[in-house]
Amino acid sequence: MLLTFQQAKEKVLQTAAAHTQRQHETVPLEHAVDRITAAPIISPINVPGFDNSAMDGYAVRLADLAKSTTLPVAQAIFAGDNISQLVWPQGSCLRIMTGAPVPSDADSVVMQEETEKTAAGITFLQEVKPGQNIRRIGEDVKKDTVTIPAGQKLSIPTLSTLAALGIAQVSLFKRLKVALFSTGNELTPLGQPLAHNGAIYDSNRFTLKLLLQKLHCEIIDLGIIPDDPAQIKQALATASSQADLIITSGGVSVGDADYTKMALQELGQINFWKIAMKPGKPFAFGQLGHALFCGLPGNPVSTLVTFYQLVQPLILRLSGCQGKENPALTFQVKSATNLKKSVGRLDFQRGKLQTNAQGELEVTTTGKQGSHITQSFSHANCFIVLEQERGSVKQGEWVTVELFNSLLMD
Ligand code: AMP
Ligand code: MG
Repeated sequence: MLLTFQQAKEKVLQTAAAHTQRQHETVPLEHAVDRITAAPIISPINVPGFDNSAMDGYAVRLADLAKSTTLPVAQAIFAGDNISQLVWPQGSCLRIMTGAPVPSDADSVVMQEETEKTAAGITFLQEVKPGQNIRRIGEDVKKDTVTIPAGQKLSIPTLSTLAALGIAQVSLFKRLKVALFSTGNELTPLGQPLAHNGAIYDSNRFTLKLLLQKLHCEIIDLGIIPDDPAQIKQALATASSQADLIITSGGVSVGDADYTKMALQELGQINFWKIAMKPGKPFAFGQLGHALFCGLPGNPVSTLVTFYQLVQPLILRLSGCQGKENPALTFQVKSATNLKKSVGRLDFQRGKLQTNAQGELEVTTTGKQGSHITQSFSHANCFIVLEQERGSVKQGEWVTVELFNSLLMD
């Protein structure tokens, strides 16, 4: 029985919820980008911390302006000035700079461009509205409120807010420990010559390491393991004693040397799934001791697609992220090309979303879609998600595209 892609994803996420990282660590703000908060962050101060000027101009009292539209300048206030001792005579205005504190009895700030300098002082040329050009205390962030909830991924704009609050360190969930190995007698590490015609480079472990680095995992690289049940079992035992999550590539299909799933069945609890998705039909998921396990298919495109669609949301959830685990940006667009598809599986074809000569978004296939054709992936910026029961698509038909997130694009 094939599971639908959605069923498989739900099972993965349900399991993840019970295994979420619980350990915290305190991390300096500059190392917190893309990490996940372990506790709510409460604002220790207001931002802005005081009423201040949004413009270079003049602070005024409306009562003074009602008597005369020309006022002498009593004093200048600059950003950073302490105005606790300020004396501001009636019937005058204050020269004020952007970011400078606005005295509590000022009603408005008038921008310089709406005034004229005359011998008698500053003439105000336009109607002045109460409160204009004054940034109010706490308008951005209010003191003692939850600014960031627990379980949120920290983006650079969010960290910028925390820096404005003077927060120098944050409590984060610890990085997830992920053990990784490739299986296959044919595999050769990068940097070594290929020994004979049947040998290939171990590109998957390289790719998976890059993906895991980008997701801020701590990587335990166990290298290449030959297609030998004893060595695979040994590697799995080592991995499960050290890691929160084990990821392998290869050996989960139905070939005679596909020992990974057999080793798993002996050592732990394993769900071996055939998922109605393309690429990536075979996918093993389960548990070994305290560690969760994902066995990815060996074909490089299948590895990358299953990692993106299933392992990425799993890792985010395990890392403590409570937001939407994979905020996929999807669009309905017309396909600029015919797309080959057979009924029965959900296809994640690789495509290029772009604007056509009429200024409309459309998607084009990036070419051959075999699970060994890595080049059609490298030219893509989106998945063309073709429904399980859909057949081939004709040029001009509407399709759903899912834009790659930052894991695949920068
Ligand atoms: P498997 O899933 O082990 O049956 O492998 C499926 C296909 O992927 C075969 O053509 C393998 O040679 C290839 N393959 C397996 N592991 C890797 C790897 N680490 N890097 C690149 N290709 C691989
Ligand atoms: Mg293999």
